[in-house]
Amino acid sequence: MTIKGKVALVTGASSGIGAATALKLAENGVKVGLAARRIDRLTDLQNQIRAMGGEAIAIEMDVVDEASVAAGVEKLATEFGTIDIVFNNAGLMPISDVESLKTSEWHRMVDVNIKGLLNTTAAVLPYMTRQASGHIINTSSIAGRKVFKGLSVYCATKHAVAAFSDGLRMELAPKHNIRVTCIQPGAVESELFEHISDRDYADQMEELKGQMEFLKAADIADTILFALNAPKHVNVAELFVLPTQQA
Ligand code: NDP
Repeated sequence: MTIKGKVALVTGASSGIGAATALKLAENGVKVGLAARRIDRLTDLQNQIRAMGGEAIAIEMDVVDEASVAAGVEKLATEFGTIDIVFNNAGLMPISDVESLKTSEWHRMVDVNIKGLLNTTAAVLPYMTRQASGHIINTSSIAGRKVFKGLSVYCATKHAVAAFSDGLRMELAPKHNIRVTCIQPGAVESELFEHISDRDYADQMEELKGQMEFLKAADIADTILFALNAPKHVNVAELFVLPTQQA
């Protein structure tokens, strides 16, 4: 199985895990659609990839907005002919106690982490079913396997991603030859913690960084490459990847 020449859509490609994975895909000969809202960041990454001889296109996309997703997916398919891989990675984690009633943050997490992932899946699926092949990688989390205090809504969204991924795999893999991988990282260095508005939880997350060596975004990219490069008959259904020091 070689991924060279395949076409991938990466959501949340403007920072962290998405940017690192997009770069690694491009280094391995994949043509990459870089999707997120911050087009300036995406354009920088696009230029970086092109400068090293890779192929990439920056796509301004809000995964919450179905029309924006449809337009972005069409742009990618028009540029490179089809879509073989989607990395559903866009997400956010503004954590707080439920009793703080930060309801707009709850809705935002549900919208981006769940509905956004559903929107991109729906938009790319026709390309994959038509060609009877494809690989969908969905980003859940360690918070999609267990629940942490203060992360109730975030955990709910990431459990939803894990459940959806498993159902999706059962439906798509045997019938359409489309592999589905659910990745569940532990703590990774990224901008994810910068959007926590609750001061106590923001401080707690800062302290956590001093207690262990977090994964690098590139570590996650490596595991995704492992799943993508597996032989055709192998579906790496789950990837649970933790910092060695994380319990
Ligand atoms: P970052 O904050 O660095 O990246 C999040 C990405 O999501 C950004 O590129 C952002 O781009 C994008 N994004 C947010 N909202 C939208 C939107 N509405 N439409 C399109 N893109 C959007 O964090 P990470 O790289 O850490 O996070 C990536 C994924 O990994 C998330 O799903 C996160 O939950 C998950 N994860 C992270 C862990 C960690 O410890 N870091 C652990 C486990 C899972 P922009 O703002 O430009 O739109």
